[in-house]
Amino acid sequence: KASPLGSSVIPIVNKLQDIFAQLGTHSSIELPQVAVVGSQSSGKSSVLEALVGRDFLPRGNDICTRRPLVLQLVQTKSKSSGGSDDEWGEFLHLPSNHRIYDFSEIRREIEAETNRLAGGNKGVKDKQIRLKIFSPNVLDITLVDLPGITKVPVGDQPTDIEARIRTMILSYIKQPSCLILAVTPANSDLANSDALQIAGNADPDGHRTIGVITKLDIMDKGTDARNLLLGKVVPLRLGYVGVVNRCQEDILLNRSVKDALTAEEKFFQSRPAYHGLADRLGIPQLAKKLNQILVQHIKALLPDLKSRISNALVATAKEHQSYGEITESRAGQGALLLNFLSKYCEAYSSLLEGKSEEMSTS
Ligand code: GDP
Ligand code: MG
Repeated sequence: KASPLGSSVIPIVNKLQDIFAQLGTHSSIELPQVAVVGSQSSGKSSVLEALVGRDFLPRGNDICTRRPLVLQLVQTKSKSSGGSDDEWGEFLHLPSNHRIYDFSEIRREIEAETNRLAGGNKGVKDKQIRLKIFSPNVLDITLVDLPGITKVPVGDQPTDIEARIRTMILSYIKQPSCLILAVTPANSDLANSDALQIAGNADPDGHRTIGVITKLDIMDKGTDARNLLLGKVVPLRLGYVGVVNRCQEDILLNRSVKDALTAEEKFFQSRPAYHGLADRLGIPQLAKKLNQILVQHIKALLPDLKSRISNALVATAKEHQSYGEITESRAGQGALLLNFLSKYCEAYSSLLEGKSEEMSTS
């Protein structure tokens, strides 16, 4: 279950992101979000999808994620008992309030929008796709699905594709506020992990990197990931969570995320090697860990955030003056909203102070 504390703080952050994006200054504001990194086909999109609990991301053996996808999850109040009308997606590039209820249509729109900019032949582009998912069943969190690291150019990719993708990934994860899910498949060598390598570049102390080990189900017979998960192979400050996502066959057979989560749980129960590691296993555990880290993270960030808001307020006011009436509504509205939000931040800061002891003992 989502912590009510997290759910009450993160919408503020998401609103801030929207406002700064509107004001065109979002790049100067570092807000906590969660990005997945790793090599191509390591299971990044699968992990995000499982965290969201719905099927809507292009996944597969080939290069699927070719533009950064900024995915803002918004928790709504449940009005009906699991009806299909209480979960929907909205894209920033489509008219606002254009709600897409059919999640396979969301996937098709991601693919179409990817092709619009990156072409149909495996090209990769920096420009984001922004998608909001509204659902009563999600944690309020912003996730970034990134193209995976590849070594050999294919299709329309330039010869320096690896360097370009690394630069793109770094532009997200080098922000001190970005939490990194470093995804490595269990059937590859952790010491050679692209994910841990690039995450280590951006976050050398490991304060904001969670290791995710995927594909525990297809490890070599007679091996298991116990030592990886215990951090005995490559230590990681925030530790590892092992997961089992759907295989390509499951995808082709349209197996649901829900069934996959049940299967994942069964898998861990049936393997003695994983007994006693419950706090490091499974998508629900990853979600929980993320939420806890995120709340701590936001708390540490609030004072700085507040001063950034004040600076932006001053800048907006100046801009307002220099442009006169023309930009009045846009800049003026931004300033008003910022003022409003800075008060919110203060209120939530004190809320967090009050809750911090409860957090650390749980
Ligand atoms: P990405 O390129 O890192 O985003 O990887 P995807 O999520 O697109 O997954 C790549 C392929 O690996 C897909 O065919 C998935 O079905 C498969 N896959 C991902 N995670 C797992 C897992 O835990 N177990 C198995 N068996 N297959 C997985
Ligand atoms: Mg992907």
